[in-house]
Amino acid sequence: MTSEVESYTSQTSFTVSGSYSSTSYSSTSYSSARYGSYGYGYSVQRKRTGPRGTTGLQNLGNTCFMNSALQCLSNTYNITRFFIDGSYRKDINRDNPLGMQGKIAEAYGCLLDKIWCDDMSSVAPREFKSAIQRFAPQFSGYQQHDSQEFLAFLLDGLHEDLNRVLKKPYVEIPDANGRPDAVVAEERWRMHKMRNDSKVVDEFQGQFKSTLVCPDCNKVSVTFDPFMYLTLPVPVPQSADNGVLTLKRCLEEFTRAEQLGEEDLWYCPNCKEHRQATKKFDLWRLPNTLVVHLKRFGQSRSWRDKIDDLVDFPLDNLDLTEWVIGEEHGHRPAIYDLYAVSNHFGGMGGGHYTAYGKNFVTGQWFNFDDSSVAQVVKDSIKVLSVRRQTTWLCPAYARAFVYRLVQRTCSSTSVAKTTAMQPAVLI
Ligand SMILES: [Zn+2]
Repeated sequence: MTSEVESYTSQTSFTVSGSYSSTSYSSTSYSSARYGSYGYGYSVQRKRTGPRGTTGLQNLGNTCFMNSALQCLSNTYNITRFFIDGSYRKDINRDNPLGMQGKIAEAYGCLLDKIWCDDMSSVAPREFKSAIQRFAPQFSGYQQHDSQEFLAFLLDGLHEDLNRVLKKPYVEIPDANGRPDAVVAEERWRMHKMRNDSKVVDEFQGQFKSTLVCPDCNKVSVTFDPFMYLTLPVPVPQSADNGVLTLKRCLEEFTRAEQLGEEDLWYCPNCKEHRQATKKFDLWRLPNTLVVHLKRFGQSRSWRDKIDDLVDFPLDNLDLTEWVIGEEHGHRPAIYDLYAVSNHFGGMGGGHYTAYGKNFVTGQWFNFDDSSVAQVVKDSIKVLSVRRQTTWLCPAYARAFVYRLVQRTCSSTSVAKTTAMQPAVLI
C-alpha cells in the first residue's frame, strides 16, 4: 500500500494489520512515548463526515503539538477567511529579511485549503512541516515540542511573511518624559505599526504597560510594548480558592507588582545605579483575538516542572473590562468568547496534545486529536478541562486558550456575533 494514510485509534490493543511500508514510515516515527496507548494502522482514506473545517491532521511522528496549534488557528474565522478567499496573496512580502519569502504563508494557505475546501477526513501536513523546518530547524525531526512555542513561531512567521511594510523605517523611541500615558502609548503603537503592519497584528496584537519604580529615589519608568499573546503565571492555589484556580486569578497574578530578583536588577537613570526595582504589568489595549497562554512549565522549562493545577475558565463572556487600563478601551466592555483550547496531557516524555475548536460555520465544538475529529458537547469542554479526574477520563490540562472579542460597545454584541458566524469562508 503506498497511500500516505495513517489512522490512529484509541483502542488499547495494537491494531495494525497488513504491513508497513518501511520507506514512508521509519520506526522512529512510531517509537514516541505518546500518552496512553495508541494503535497504529492503515485505513482507506475516508470522506469527512462533519462540517467543513473538521478535517483531522495526521500525526507525522510526535507532531501532535503542531496539530494542536494548527487546529486552534484554523478555527480563527478572520484569519482563515483571509487565507481561504486568497486575500493573503496581495500581502505576501518576499523581500522581508525577517520573513521567509512568503513560503510559510503559502504553505499555511495550502494547508487551510485542504482543511476547509477538500472533503477528506484527515490530511497529512507534510509540505507544511517541511516548509516550517526549513526556516526553523528546531521543529525538524520528530521530537516533542510545545504547542504554544510552535504557535508563537507560526504567528511570527506569518506576520513577517505578510508584513505590509516593505521597508522598515528606523524609529527611535522617545522617552515618556512624564507625558500622559495615553499619549505615550499611542505614539508607541504608531511607531510599532510603522514597522509591523499585517493581518496578524490586526487580529492578535495588543499592548501592555510596564511600570518600573526605583525603591531608592522613586523614579518611575513607563514603557508600552506590543504582545501577540498573554503568558499568564499559574499561581499556587490558596486555601481560599478551594484548590481551583480561575483565569482571573492568573490575571491578578500577572498584574501584581513584584520586586525584581537580585540577579535581575534595573539600571535607574536617576540614581545611576542598578536597583532592585518594583515591576508591574497592566493591560493597555486588547486584540480582537486573545491568545491566553498558561505558564505551566517552570523556569527551567523542563517537562518535569509542569504545574498541573486545574484552571477554571469561562466559555462565554470572559469580561476583561476591569483589566484594561487604556483610556481608549477602559470604559468600554471587553468581553470575549472562547473558541479554541490547546490541551496538554501527561508530563514527562512529552505527553500528548489535542485541541478543542468551535466551528465558526455551525457553532459546534469538536475535539481535534490528530487525525481523529469528533464533536463534543460544549459542557464537556469545561468538565474535562476543569474537574479533577481519575485517570480513565484523561484530564485535559488546558495549555492555551483562544478568545474572540465579541463586544466592543454595549449595543454591538449581536452584530459582532452574527458577523463572526457568517460562513463566508465557504467559497
Ligand atoms: Zn533611583
